[in-house]
Amino acid sequence: MVTAKAWVLKKHFEGFPKTSDFDLKMMELPNLKDGELLLESVFLSVDPYMRPYSQRDMKEGDIMIGTQVARIVESKNPAFTVGAFVVARSGWRTHFISDGKDLQHFPSNWPESLPRSLALGTVGMPGLTAYFGLLEVCKVKPGETVLVNAAAGAVGSVVGQLAKIGGCKVVGCAGSDDKVAYLKKIGFDEAFNYKTVTSLDEALRKASPDGYDCFFDNVGGEFASIAINQMKKYGRIAVCGAISQYNVSVPQKGPYMQVPMIFQELQMKGFIVTRWNNRWEEGLKALLKWVVEGKVKCHEHVTEGFENMPTAFIGMLKGENIGKAIVKV
Ligand code: NDP
Repeated sequence: MVTAKAWVLKKHFEGFPKTSDFDLKMMELPNLKDGELLLESVFLSVDPYMRPYSQRDMKEGDIMIGTQVARIVESKNPAFTVGAFVVARSGWRTHFISDGKDLQHFPSNWPESLPRSLALGTVGMPGLTAYFGLLEVCKVKPGETVLVNAAAGAVGSVVGQLAKIGGCKVVGCAGSDDKVAYLKKIGFDEAFNYKTVTSLDEALRKASPDGYDCFFDNVGGEFASIAINQMKKYGRIAVCGAISQYNVSVPQKGPYMQVPMIFQELQMKGFIVTRWNNRWEEGLKALLKWVVEGKVKCHEHVTEGFENMPTAFIGMLKGENIGKAIVKV
């Protein structure tokens, strides 16, 4: 008999999440039936989507949603061998039982030296968000200028590097000087700390006096309202995230975007990465290749200990992470 630990949503978040909104539960797992396997989480992901999705999809008392890299501990399913690693969407728990249907194998060419946690970041869902958002929504072309915010995070840091590979000029904005230094290190052409500039409008203009062809927006809100005025004619805006809005209790009002959209004939498109589920393999293959070749650099912000999941989640929402925020069990 295995006892699993799991974090449940004790109370729906009001405004910014608090550690008291979570509860740690112990759960006895039953013995395996034929076709089932027992897994233990090795790395768990904390992601911004958990904040709005918990509101939309969860009840109080539910186990927190989320993805992990897990190791197979016991198997009564011939398709899965003990000791192998998989990516699972089983929420914030240390151990769980699966019938194997929703588990994702690691690519067979995953190098031994590459941390498996990258399957939750650059070579996982956030990397794919950057890949499909840039290719299919922004439709970037060589020579164009791309703006990305939350640029030092899991998605943003990949957006900038892929745009560079695609022959673009890249401008990134992030919330600390350390993050700005990181962006310059990984090849961003221009980067600035949006929290310390006296005028965001001026800083954006200085970074690219001719304006922006593409804007990969992870933040929304006031940032997007200002940036939209610096789009070039026929510019494209990929609305990937709106993290500035996730913890806001009172909905904010405009400025509104219609006038710059009309005058500059812009395209603005929201997307969710699962739209390209059928091309997941293609994206992962490309990302893994770039990582192995050293063309895409990865950074992780690792919090040790399953008991620190809520703190890690809250820290990521506050902007403590450079690169992907991960919890190591
Ligand atoms: P990150 O690793 O970028 O972590 C979140 C970052 O957001 C923080 O580090 C912080 O960086 C920034 N941030 C937090 N609060 C604010 C705020 N009020 N204003 C501006 N920036 C803020 O997370 P991800 O890379 O995983 O996600 C980035 C965005 O992409 C999120 O909005 C997320 O919801 C979205 N997303 C969308 C997907 C889709 O399919 N559409 C899939 C995956 C992610 P800083 O210090 O720079 O402020």
